Amino acid sequence: MTVTDIALVGIGKIARDQHIPAISADPAFRLAATVSRSGGIDGVETHADLPALLAARPDIPAVSLTMPPVPRYAAAAAAIAAGRHVMLEKPPGASVAEVLKLERQARARGVTLFATWHSRNAEAADAARDWLADKAIRSVRIDWKEDVRKWHPGQDWIWQPGGLGVFDPAINALSLVTKILPVQLHLTEATLSFPENRAAPIAAALAFAGPDGLSAEAAFDWRQDGGEVWQIEIGTDAGTLRLVDGGARLMIDGTEQPVEAPGEYPSLYRRFAELIEQAESDVDPEPLIHVADAFMLGRRETVAAFTD
Ligand code: NAP
Repeated sequence: MTVTDIALVGIGKIARDQHIPAISADPAFRLAATVSRSGGIDGVETHADLPALLAARPDIPAVSLTMPPVPRYAAAAAAIAAGRHVMLEKPPGASVAEVLKLERQARARGVTLFATWHSRNAEAADAARDWLADKAIRSVRIDWKEDVRKWHPGQDWIWQPGGLGVFDPAINALSLVTKILPVQLHLTEATLSFPENRAAPIAAALAFAGPDGLSAEAAFDWRQDGGEVWQIEIGTDAGTLRLVDGGARLMIDGTEQPVEAPGEYPSLYRRFAELIEQAESDVDPEPLIHVADAFMLGRRETVAAFTD
C-alpha cells in the first residue's frame, strides 16, 4: 500500500479528538507535520502557518484542514495552488461560493478535494439510506438539540459571522438527511433566534418541501438541558425510521436494528485515500446550501443574551 504523508492544519478539539487517532490508525497515511499557532503535537514537526509548511515541505502531498470555517478558504486555495490534495472539515466553507470556487480550483490543478461530512459516516447511516431507498416518504422530522456550553466551551468563532452558530452542529443533521433520503428537499421557511449580544443564531426552526406534497421540519437548539437529542424521524409507507444519537443507532418501528461500520473519522480517511488513488474529488455543497437558504429566507427574532 502507498503511504501518503499528510499535514494536519489547526490543532484544536476535533484534530485531537478524531483526526490524529484516525490518521494514526490508517496505514495509508503518515502524519508528517502540523500547522499550528499554539504549538502543535509533541514529536511532530510543526510550522507556524500554512505558507511556511508549503514552502518547507514540497514532499508532503496532502493536507487536512481542521481549523474553523472562516480561515479555511484561504488555506485550501493556497494548498491547492501548491499542488496538494486537500481534505476539509465540515462545513466545507463559510459560504457556498467559496466551496464552488475550491472545487473548480482543484479540478484545474489536478488535485483531490474532499469536502467531508463526518455524520454521513455515522454507524447507521448506510443502513438507513438502504432501508429508505424503496419507500414512499410521508414525513421528516429532525431534532438536533444540545447544550452549547457543554459542546463548545470557550469557542468564540462559532458566534462570529461565518461561524454558523447552532448550524455548526445542525449541519451534521442536514448532511445525514441529504444522504439517506431518496428524495430532495428545499427550504421554504425558517425562524432564526439570535441572542441579543451575538452575531449567530442559538436556535432555528426550519420547514422544507419535497415531492408529492411532502413537508419536513427541523428544530435546532443550543439551549438544551438534560442531555442532547440528535435525532431524525422519517415516516414512510412501510413504517417509521428513527436515527438517534447522531446516526449511531437505527430503529424501525421502535425496534433497534443491528448496524456495523468502522466509525466516522476512520471512514473519512479511508475515503480520502481512495479519492487520491483514483484522482477524484468529492464535494457536495447541499447541506451548506440549506443553511445558506435559512439565512436568506429566515425570519430573525432576538432572544435573551447568551453568556458563557
Ligand atoms: P477549535 O478547537 O476552536 O479550533 C480548531 C483549531 O483551529 C484551533 O485550535 C487553532 O489551532 C486553529 N484556528 C483557530 N482559529 C484559527 C484562525 N483564525 N486561523 C487559523 N487557524 C485557526 O475548533 P474545533 O471544534 O476543532 O472545530 C474545527 C472545525 O471542525 C469546525 O469546522 C467544526 O465544525 C468541525 N468539527 C468540530 C467538532 C467538535 O466536536 N468540536 C466535530 C466535528 C467537526 P492552532 O492553535 O493549532 O493553530
